[in-house]
Amino acid sequence: MNNTKSVQQVLAPPAPHMVGDGFRVHNFFPSGYEMGMLRMSPFFLLDYGSEVEFPPTDTPRGVGVHPHRGFETVTIAFKGKVAHHDSTGNSGVIGEGDVQWMTAGSGILHKEYHETEYSKKGGPFQMVQLWVNLPAKDKMTPPKYQAIENAQMGKYLLPDGGGVLEVVAGEFQGVKGAATTFTPMQVYVGRLKKGASLSLSLPENFNTGMLAVAGSFRINGTDDVASDHFVLFKNDGTDVQVAALEDGIFLLLSGEPINENLVPYGPFLMNTRQEIMQAFEDLNHGKFGVLED
Ligand code: MN
Repeated sequence: MNNTKSVQQVLAPPAPHMVGDGFRVHNFFPSGYEMGMLRMSPFFLLDYGSEVEFPPTDTPRGVGVHPHRGFETVTIAFKGKVAHHDSTGNSGVIGEGDVQWMTAGSGILHKEYHETEYSKKGGPFQMVQLWVNLPAKDKMTPPKYQAIENAQMGKYLLPDGGGVLEVVAGEFQGVKGAATTFTPMQVYVGRLKKGASLSLSLPENFNTGMLAVAGSFRINGTDDVASDHFVLFKNDGTDVQVAALEDGIFLLLSGEPINENLVPYGPFLMNTRQEIMQAFEDLNHGKFGVLED
C-alpha cells in the first residue's frame, strides 16, 4: 500500500475540565494541543467525555441555557443519556449509541443535561461533543435539529461478525450516513471485534482524525493507539487501515477543510470580529429566542 494516509501523531487525552457540572471533558482541539484552529477543519472542537461514574442525584447535572451561532454541535452518547432542550422548541434524549446533530446556524439557545432517569440511578457516563464549522455562506442558516437514533443509522457490517461501521455522516461502501451536512465529510463510529480490521479510503485533502473510545487499535499496521487517545493523520494519502487489538469502539472524523478566516468567541464561531459583535447584539435583543432555565 503506497497511498497510505499516515499517522502524524497519537495524542494522549489532555487534563479534563468540567463543562457545567455534568460534562467532564478532555479537549483535544482547538485548546488541548497547539495544532492550529483550522488543522482539523471543518471540525473546530472535540470535547471527549471519557468514561466517568456519576453518583445518583435528583437534580440532573449539566449545563444551563447558553447560545450558539455559526456552526453545528454534534453530540454522541456512548454511556449514559443526555437530555436537550432548545429555543426552537426541540427537545430530546440522546441515548447510548445515538447522535444529535444540531445546526445552531443563525442562533439558538439550548441547555444540555443528564437525562432524568439516568441521573436518579447514576452510573457510567461517556460522550463526545464535536463542533462542526459552517462555511460563511451558511453561517446564518435557520437552526435545525437532527435526532439520529442508533437504529436508523446506516450500517456496514464487517465480514465474519467482525463488527459494524455506523455511518453518521458521509458514506461508506454505498452505505449512506443519516445526517445531512453543509460540507463534505465522513463521520463514522466503528464497533470492532478483536482481530477485525477495516480499510477506509478518505480524500487526501480531508483533515482526518480518529478517537479510540474503547479498546485499542493498530493503524496502518504500524501505529498503536490506546483507548481515550486521538490519532491525527497527515494529509499525505488516502488509505487508512484500522485493526482492533481487542474489542473496541472508535470515532473517525474526516472532512474537507473550510479555508476561511475564523473568529471564535465563546459560544460563537464566525468569520469576522464584526460578526461576533453582531452576535452579542442580537443575543441581547432576544433574537436567539427564549428558553427557560
Ligand atoms: Mn451547547
